[in-house]
Amino acid sequence: MIRSNNTTDCVVSQDYELFFHSSGSVEKCMIEPANALLEYSQKRNLHLTFFVDVGMLRCFDRHAADNKHVARDARSIRKNLRAIAEAGHEIGLHVHPHWEDTRLVDGRWDFSNTRYQLRDFSADEINDIFRSYFSLLQDLAKAPIVSYRAGGFCVEPFAAISGLLLELGIDIESSVVPGAKLIDPQKGFDFAGAPDVRGWCFDSSPTVPSGEGPFVEVPVTPNTVSRFFYWGRLVDRLGPQQRAQHFGDGLSKAIGRREVLRRLLGGSRTSELSLDAAKAPYLLPIARRANRRSTWHVMGHPKLLSRRSLEIFDEFIEQARIDRFLTVAGLAGQVRAADSGRRPQAIG
Ligand SMILES: [Zn+2]
Repeated sequence: MIRSNNTTDCVVSQDYELFFHSSGSVEKCMIEPANALLEYSQKRNLHLTFFVDVGMLRCFDRHAADNKHVARDARSIRKNLRAIAEAGHEIGLHVHPHWEDTRLVDGRWDFSNTRYQLRDFSADEINDIFRSYFSLLQDLAKAPIVSYRAGGFCVEPFAAISGLLLELGIDIESSVVPGAKLIDPQKGFDFAGAPDVRGWCFDSSPTVPSGEGPFVEVPVTPNTVSRFFYWGRLVDRLGPQQRAQHFGDGLSKAIGRREVLRRLLGGSRTSELSLDAAKAPYLLPIARRANRRSTWHVMGHPKLLSRRSLEIFDEFIEQARIDRFLTVAGLAGQVRAADSGRRPQAIG
């Protein structure tokens, strides 16, 4: 990507959520790391975008009457989100529909027998999910909610939700990681064909740019890593230290055997550029290699953040020579303005 002017922009987005296998605690997975991010961003004078897993909060609300711990957690999340909005960060909609089937069993969230992707739900259920999640979140946000990220990058079939999103005033999408692909019957996605540029307008599929489309895609910067990265991750996962490396105290569900083999034996693999503890070390080599890149979009999860991630990010800001931080909505505005400038203008 060639610099179009002298400014190097950076977007930082965070998916605010629990773990989905063993959930972990609200305090460790969200409140503590989000507060660390608030403190950091205030010091650096930058604004982030928080994509909030609203299904989680709605599920907490469903169980709050029967369980005082869940009721207290729901209050902490609301207070934390209000502080995030108050500090001027963007709040975006993040949808993990599996919370619709999740139940509290003996004080723990039971994710078994869960439908993971929106395509597993009926049109009526999808309609209810989006309307109810949106109104719950809009109540907590200060500014209108305009940005969306699909749970687990499972953004297709986007056409099933595009009309609903426009009706709610959401016309920015940010789930695509150009070149990334996951083979998994439950959680798979495929962005192999998406271009690695700062963003584009689109109509019905976020991986297919279309200058006239009503939506803007703000993709996450891709990072291609060798299989040795996954050997390292495997060693980490088997070791006793793995939970100590990040704020969150839960566990993700293991990926399928086919994908594990592909990662361990394959040549290289593209995933998202991230602040997550295990992935943050890649920020520095990629910033050195791509020193003419004009726009960066680094994502992450508070649950997987570490203090070290933020120290590395300081070095990244220097290395990549970042001049300006934008929210997802801020960058989408730039993309839209540039795209409309390229459109043929009517004469008259
Ligand atoms: Zn998520």
